[in-house]
Amino acid sequence: MDSIEQKILQIIDAHRDALQAMADDLFHHAEQGYHEYRTASIVSDYLKKLGLSVQEGLAATGVRADIGNGQGPRIALIGELDGLACPDHPAATADGFAHACGHYAQIVCMLGAALALSDPEVAAHLDGTAAIFAVPAEEYLDASVREEVRRSHGILSSGGKCELLRRGLMDDIDLAVTTHSHMAGRGSTDADLMLGCSACTGFIGKTIYMHGRAAHAAAAPHLGANALNAACLGMSALGMIRETFEEKDCVRVHPYIRKGGDAINIVPSEVVVDMMVRARTQEAIEKVSEKVDNCFRGAAMAIGCEAEIVNSQGYMPCPERLPEAVLQEAAALLGPDVRVCSIPAGVCNTASTDVGDLFAVMPVLNFTFGGSCGALHSRDYAVTDPETAHILPAKLMALLAYRLLKDGAARARDITASYAAPFTKEGYRKYIQETFPAPEDAR
Ligand SMILES: [Zn+2]
Repeated sequence: MDSIEQKILQIIDAHRDALQAMADDLFHHAEQGYHEYRTASIVSDYLKKLGLSVQEGLAATGVRADIGNGQGPRIALIGELDGLACPDHPAATADGFAHACGHYAQIVCMLGAALALSDPEVAAHLDGTAAIFAVPAEEYLDASVREEVRRSHGILSSGGKCELLRRGLMDDIDLAVTTHSHMAGRGSTDADLMLGCSACTGFIGKTIYMHGRAAHAAAAPHLGANALNAACLGMSALGMIRETFEEKDCVRVHPYIRKGGDAINIVPSEVVVDMMVRARTQEAIEKVSEKVDNCFRGAAMAIGCEAEIVNSQGYMPCPERLPEAVLQEAAALLGPDVRVCSIPAGVCNTASTDVGDLFAVMPVLNFTFGGSCGALHSRDYAVTDPETAHILPAKLMALLAYRLLKDGAARARDITASYAAPFTKEGYRKYIQETFPAPEDAR
C-alpha cells in the first residue's frame, strides 16, 4: 500500500460518522426515478462543500463533478439516485417509495470516494479524471410515469444511464465504475464484497393496446368486441409459446393488465397490457418480442379486436465480466478481515439493469457489497451491517479509482484499449433512435 492509499483509507475512516448519518437520512427519503430532487441536492451540496465544480439537472436530476487533471482517461464513479415503489416497506415515504434495492448506499459510497479523491494530495496523483456521477432512474418506470417525464423533461429513455447516453452527457467518459448491494449471489454469499459483474438479461418494454367495441354487457354483447377477452386470449397464447423459449436465452416475459375496461356493465372496448420481454442477448429479445406480438395479434383477430403494439426502449443485456486484477488488488488493500470473493462464473442474473447500456459503449468495472438482508425490491430489505454496506464500498471505490488513474493512468488505459464495445456512442444513439422512434410530438 502506498502513502496515498493509506491517506484515502484514513480520510474515509475519519468521516465515518458523517457518512453513516447521511446513509440513514437517504435511506428514509427514497424518491422515484427522475424525481430524486432531494437526493440530488444533497449530492450536489456535498460535492460543492468539497470545493468541486458541480453540474446539476443532467437528464432531470443527474449530478456530476470532476476530480483530477481534467484530461483523459475519464472514469465515471457512479451512484444511482432512485428508490422504488415499495409502499409496505417499513422505511417507505408517504408517497410509498423505499430504498428496497439499496441504491442510497451507492450514493454514500460515491460521495465517500469523492471525499477521499478530492483531497488535494490525492487529487494531485490522479493522471486522469474521476467523474463523480450521480445518475437518475435505474428502476424501470411504469408507462404512466414514463409519459409524465417525457412531457415534463423530454425524457425518452426510462433508464437514467440510457438517457444520459442519448443526450451525449457521457460522451467524454471512457470507463465506468458501478456498484450495488449483492444481487446474483444474494443469500448465497456471506462475502462482504463480490467483485465483477454477472451477466444480466436485457429487455424491451411492451404495451399492448387492445381495441374492441363497447356494447351493453347484458342487453347486447353480440354488438361488442370484447377487448378483455382478446387480451386474456393473448396471454393464454403467450403461456403456450413459453415451451419454445430456450434455456440458454434466460427469457422472462411478465405481463400485467394496466386497464381492464371502463365499467362493469359495458363490454370492455379498450384494455391495456404492459410487459417486459427479457433475454440474455439482444437477438433473443427481438426474437421473443416478435413471437409475443403474434400471440396478441392472433388473439385480436379471433375476437374481432385490433392489437396496437408499442415497444419501448428497455435496457441492454450485461455481459459477464470477471474481476480485473486492478479490482482485486484494490480490494486486497482493505485488509485480511474483509471477506472478498469473485462473481460465480457462468451465472446469468435474470433481472436487468441499465448498466447494460454502459457496457454497450464502454468497459464497466463492478462490485457488489453485503451488509444487508432480505430480498431486493421487497419489504424485507434491511441493513444489518452499516460498515459493510456503506463504508467498505466507499473505500473500495476510492482505491480503485486511484489505482486506475495513478502512474499515467496505465491501468485505465489498458482496460479501455482492450475492451471491444458493441457500439460506438454515436452508433448506440442511432440504434436506439431507429429501434424506438420518438413519438411525433417529441421529435
Ligand atoms: Zn437496484
